[in-house]
Amino acid sequence: MNKKYVIGVDLGGTKILTAIADMEGKILNRVRVDTGADEPAENVIGRIIKTVNEVMEQVGATKDEVLRIGVGSPGPLDIEKGVVLFSPNLKWHNVPIVSMMEEELGLPVVLENDANAAALAEYTFGAGKGAEHMIYMTISTGIGGGVIINGQLLHGVGSAAGELGHHTIIPDGPQCGCGNYGCLEALASGTALGRYGREAVLSGEETLMREMVNSPEKVDGSVVTRAAEAGDKVALEIVDRVATYIGIGIANMINIFNPAKVVLGGGVIKAGHLFYDKILKTVEERALEAPRKQCEIVFAELGSDVGVLGAIAVALKDK
Ligand SMILES: [Zn+2]
Repeated sequence: MNKKYVIGVDLGGTKILTAIADMEGKILNRVRVDTGADEPAENVIGRIIKTVNEVMEQVGATKDEVLRIGVGSPGPLDIEKGVVLFSPNLKWHNVPIVSMMEEELGLPVVLENDANAAALAEYTFGAGKGAEHMIYMTISTGIGGGVIINGQLLHGVGSAAGELGHHTIIPDGPQCGCGNYGCLEALASGTALGRYGREAVLSGEETLMREMVNSPEKVDGSVVTRAAEAGDKVALEIVDRVATYIGIGIANMINIFNPAKVVLGGGVIKAGHLFYDKILKTVEERALEAPRKQCEIVFAELGSDVGVLGAIAVALKDK
């Protein structure tokens, strides 16, 4: 029977977003529910299954018409075995999500790391379209991403490749969530942006950021970017510093992978125009000339749908 649909599940620590799409990846219907990560994994997976049944009902899809379900999940994962090995956000240890869903639904399920899925989404539907060699970097609370080589996601031997936030930029820099020191994520994430802002306010620097919050502890990444947008000198210096680190990270990626495009996404990049010129300048100063000239640095296009579109792209792969 001809397959007409795929289903994508964007599994996050707070929300589950499930959508059914046609074979071109056009979303036909979607359902969003709370993850309820405090409950046991079986309950969360029960809710996922309910959303899958709901989106199928809404478009009148039968199981025979559904090619596959793609699931984008926080990791680390064992993609081959379909297991979420560990997820602090979901509070999961060794949850065999693929077999649990397949048993209940009778449909094939494929699992992918959420950042990799987002990379595949931008490659398939967004800013990376047509770039067979592409790097996707997402900068929000943390820094993650995915690497596309020859039109395929790079997984590495244990599906752990593409951790673009965890390479050392400054050997004795601040400690990163991963335990290492001076990772790109520790220096240039939205969390780091907020930390620099708090440090500036607490050290008594004259800045708009002080008036924007009740107490210095309230300064976060968005306070810094809003102050920078208003022309605050201290905030602009912070943005400049973060853009330099991001530029160094991208220059490293360009030298190692020779991509046609680097696609930048995530919450911090919503204020991307503040960072862009300095990122370009840093890349120009630091990347090798030949691969730099072959690479375009662009902003992501898919916005908040990138997660669920990633799961759909995973389901459509090798259709
Ligand atoms: Zn790290």
